Amino acid sequence: MSARIIDGNAIAARMQDEIAAAVQDMKDQFGITPGLAAVLVGDNPASRQYVGMKRRRCEKVGIASFGYELPADISQAELEALIKDLNADPKVHGILVQLPLPDHIDEEAILGAISLEKDVDGFHPVNIGRLSMKGREPLFIPATPYGCMALLEEVGAEISGANAVVLGRSNIVGLPAAMLLLHRNATVTVCHSRTKDLPAVCRQADILITAVGRPEMVKADWVKPGAIVIDVGSNRIEDPNSEKGYRWVGDVDFDSVKEVAGALTPSPGGVGPMTITMLLKNTLRAAELAARKG
Ligand code: NAP
Repeated sequence: MSARIIDGNAIAARMQDEIAAAVQDMKDQFGITPGLAAVLVGDNPASRQYVGMKRRRCEKVGIASFGYELPADISQAELEALIKDLNADPKVHGILVQLPLPDHIDEEAILGAISLEKDVDGFHPVNIGRLSMKGREPLFIPATPYGCMALLEEVGAEISGANAVVLGRSNIVGLPAAMLLLHRNATVTVCHSRTKDLPAVCRQADILITAVGRPEMVKADWVKPGAIVIDVGSNRIEDPNSEKGYRWVGDVDFDSVKEVAGALTPSPGGVGPMTITMLLKNTLRAAELAARKG
């Protein structure tokens, strides 16, 4: 059996066309241009690249993007003051603070300072709290796990009653992914670095989401035949045969797992493009909420 390959690029492109049309409607109907403020602290090249990608995508769908590049030694008070200004700025509907922040900055306080209505990354403690409680809805869902759920929808996964295993328990991916699956009535197991016999746990999964940051760790014999596998991992490995001397791989050993899984995302080209798309979707939603409020 060879898995259905879930083409995140194609799905994301289609969704971004839909978002662009909705953004145009918003401009025509309400005279509102959705706006995203992207805050980058310090000079981490990966963070700079992510912020650049997000801003370019915003512009492509007609969302205004406002960049704030701040020195690594910015004080907590200065950063909080910027967040306060952005909270009050009517042109800004969503605020993104690129993580990680430098060690001297209290990340929790910064994320908590973002207005709930502008928390398009979904990391505000209230949004995460609502995500974690039965019968509550967050205003915004963190983009990467939101993207994973959208991919599961695309392949028509039966989530209710399924055995779902999430490999990884980070605040930005594993934990919220587990909560989202639980809300959809999956039976969820969350694995981490202390989990015993990972392959045996993963083999129970009808739905397997991997977010560990370990190149090609998940092998074919970890996967139940026919399972849906969503690979969040994005890992750079040395490759002397490639032009750049490196290439990107997921947490899943794609070539072997595709012979066992029912459906599988590639990495790159799976979850990555969906993450940006869901951020755009959240920004549009933030602008819609603001328009409704008047
Ligand atoms: P993270 O914060 O480093 O968390 C990794 C998780 O994996 C932790 O819960 C850790 O367990 C667990 N883990 C690490 N090694 C393990 C092992 N050998 N066995 C079992 N569990 C192990 O990572 P993250 O931010 O969630 O990112 C995970 C991956 O997703 C990375 O490759 C990252 O680049 C990628 N990513 C991609 C996107 C995207 O848009 N495509 C977005 C975000 C992240 P403990 O909790 O016990 O330490």
